[in-house]
Amino acid sequence: MVVIAIHEIGHLVAGLIQHAQLHFLTWWFLIAIQVNGKIKIMINENVFLALGTTKMYFKSKKDIKNLKRKLLLNYIGGPLINLVVAVIMLSYRAIEPNIQLTSSDSYSYFLILNLIIGIITLIPVEGTDGGEIVSLMKKSNAEVVDDYTVQYLYYKAIEDIQEDEFLWLEKKVTAASNDDEVFSIAILKAHYHINKKNYDEASTSLIFAQKIVSSEIQQKILGFYNSLIKSLIQKEMNEEYIEQLKEINFWYGKCMYSISLNILKQNSSDYKKICISKNEVYKEMVDPHQQMILLKALNL
Ligand SMILES: [Zn+2]
Repeated sequence: MVVIAIHEIGHLVAGLIQHAQLHFLTWWFLIAIQVNGKIKIMINENVFLALGTTKMYFKSKKDIKNLKRKLLLNYIGGPLINLVVAVIMLSYRAIEPNIQLTSSDSYSYFLILNLIIGIITLIPVEGTDGGEIVSLMKKSNAEVVDDYTVQYLYYKAIEDIQEDEFLWLEKKVTAASNDDEVFSIAILKAHYHINKKNYDEASTSLIFAQKIVSSEIQQKILGFYNSLIKSLIQKEMNEEYIEQLKEINFWYGKCMYSISLNILKQNSSDYKKICISKNEVYKEMVDPHQQMILLKALNL
């Protein structure tokens, strides 16, 4: 666990040196997440992020310069620091021969773990730092900047997104290459429209994405938000919307679950509210747009 903390700190430092902003960092049971410019440290309840994840982003358009190199350094930061620690420990042993490398002592154990984590995270498969580095290398500069622009708009406050920027996103989603991108842009678009009280358009964005993504979980989450919007405008809930809400169980997180139950019971007061504070929403959702939509639905 300490070795993973070292790894995440490596990413964090590499990012901070390049003036990137922290979105969130998880380590085992802790999550540090930036909400409205402040870092909140809370208990992490998201099992998928439990091992350790650091997500950072560039806030200003000026950061586009040398973007590819900056992103590469961010990914390398984590594995690099594990390997550096391992090398320092190895060389320390070399000058201090009293320290024996055996399989049982904690010095060797720590050294080997650092080596293992450093190397494993560099293996270029999907989801590792190595994988991210390889996919980044394959992209042209223009593609990297395009992805960056999506990300830049994604972290921008919804009120500040300009019409032309939004249109650019609309075009981008039809050309989006992967599920995650389609999913995040759909949520962003829904939030944008909800903010402007264009509920029908918000719903259209979600339905569009629901047809494209192949992940069943993402389809269900998009369906959940669509049903939520229908309930926000007090539309007659037809069978389809009700079914979509019934799909949301406790594993989707207690806030989503709580909202679904509440709508299904037609806002009756006999159900127990299990998501009662803003912090619980922040903990459950790392996505700033989903956070805002849930807070609105929960009247928090
Ligand atoms: Zn990493």
